[in-house]
Amino acid sequence: MPAGPEEKVNLLGLDRSGLERFFVDLGEKPFRARQMLQWIHQRAVTDYDEMTDLSLALRQRLAERAKIEPPRIISEQCSEDGTVKWLMATEGGNAVETVYIPEPSRGTLCISSQVGCMLNCTFCSTATQGFSRNLTAAEIVGQVWLAATTLGHERHGQRRITNVVFMGMGEPMLNLEAVRPALGILRDDLAYGLASRRVTISTAGVIPGIDSMSEGVEFALAVSLHAAENELRSRLVPLNRKYPVEDLIAACKRYTAGNHRRSVTFEYTMIEGVNDRPEHARALVRRLSCLPCKINLIPFNPFPGTPFRCSSDEAIYEFQKITRAAGLITTVRKTRGEDIDAACGQLVGKLLTPSQRRQLVQQQLARQAVAS
Ligand code: SAH
Repeated sequence: MPAGPEEKVNLLGLDRSGLERFFVDLGEKPFRARQMLQWIHQRAVTDYDEMTDLSLALRQRLAERAKIEPPRIISEQCSEDGTVKWLMATEGGNAVETVYIPEPSRGTLCISSQVGCMLNCTFCSTATQGFSRNLTAAEIVGQVWLAATTLGHERHGQRRITNVVFMGMGEPMLNLEAVRPALGILRDDLAYGLASRRVTISTAGVIPGIDSMSEGVEFALAVSLHAAENELRSRLVPLNRKYPVEDLIAACKRYTAGNHRRSVTFEYTMIEGVNDRPEHARALVRRLSCLPCKINLIPFNPFPGTPFRCSSDEAIYEFQKITRAAGLITTVRKTRGEDIDAACGQLVGKLLTPSQRRQLVQQQLARQAVAS
C-alpha cells in the first residue's frame, strides 16, 4: 500500500543516506542526518524537543512529517543463564521475538526479520506459525534500539551489545529491502558502529539474496545447511528444491571471493538418526573442503509436536571429530535460554496459533494502555 500523505515516516528505519534524502526533501542540509542518527541511536532520544541543536522551526516540521517509534515490549523474560527474551509488538497486532545472549567477552542480540516464516523447515518451530509479513527497517532496528535502551548501552565500560545476528524469526534474505538499511544503521559509527564481522546474516540458502548482498556491503554470512546431500537437505529445508546444495556452495564461494577476509559459517542442527551419522559428517567434509568456512553444530531444540530429537552428546562429539580431522573448524553451539524457550528454532510462544498470539498482543497492549 503506498504511504498516504498523512502517514509519518519512522526515522528509526532510515540509514544515513535515507535520512539525508529526507532532510534534503525538507529543504535542509544533508548533515542533519548525522545529528539525527546520534540523537536516536546513541542518545536514545525520541522527543524532538530534546534535540537542542535543531531549530525550533525544524523540530516543528519534524513533528508534522516524521515519527521515531520503536516497537513496544509486551513481555520480557530472563533466563537463569542471563539470556533475555522480549516479545515485541509490531504494527498490525503481531509480535516478534528478540533474544539477548550475554557471554563473558561479548553480548549477542538475535533479531527477527519477518513475522513468522514462509520456508517451512521441518525442524523449526517458527515454521508452525506460518508467515504473516515482512518487518520494516524501523521494526528491525527498533529491536536493537529497544534492547540497547533497556539493557543500557554500556556496563562497566563495556558495550552490552557487541554482536547482532539475524537468526530470530524469518528469512532475512527474503526481506532485503528492510534488511539493507537496517544493516547500514547497525554498521554506522554515528549509530551502533558494529564492525562487519559482528553483524551476521543467516540464510536458509536464498542464492539471489547472497549474490546481491555480496556486492558492496560487508557483513558476516551464515548459511543454515543441516545436510550436505540434496535428498536429505530437501526434506529438512524445502527451499533446497529451488536452490540445491551445489549451487548454494557456489554462491558461498562467490561471497568469499569478493574479499579475502570473508568466510562462511555453516549452521548444522544435529538431529538424532537424521543427519548426525559419520557418513553425514564425511559428506559435509567433501562439500566444504573448497572454501574458507567454519561449522557450527547446533544441538536440536525440541518443541511441542515435533517428531525430531536431539542427537546424543557422543554423536555430536564424533561428528565434530570427523570434520575437525579433515581440517575444518567446527564448534558446538551452547544452548542458551532453554528455560524461557529462547533457544534456536524455539522462537515462538508455546502452543500459540497466530490468532491466539494476536489476541495476546492486543490484551497486553490494552493492559499497558490502562496502566499508563
Ligand atoms: N531463516 C534464517 C534465519 C533463522 S536462523 C536461516 O534459516 O538461517 C535460526 C537457526 O536455527 C537456523 O540455522 C535454523 O535452521 C536453526 N534452527 C531452527 N530450528 C531449530 C531447532 N529446533 N533446533 C536447533 N536449531 C534450529
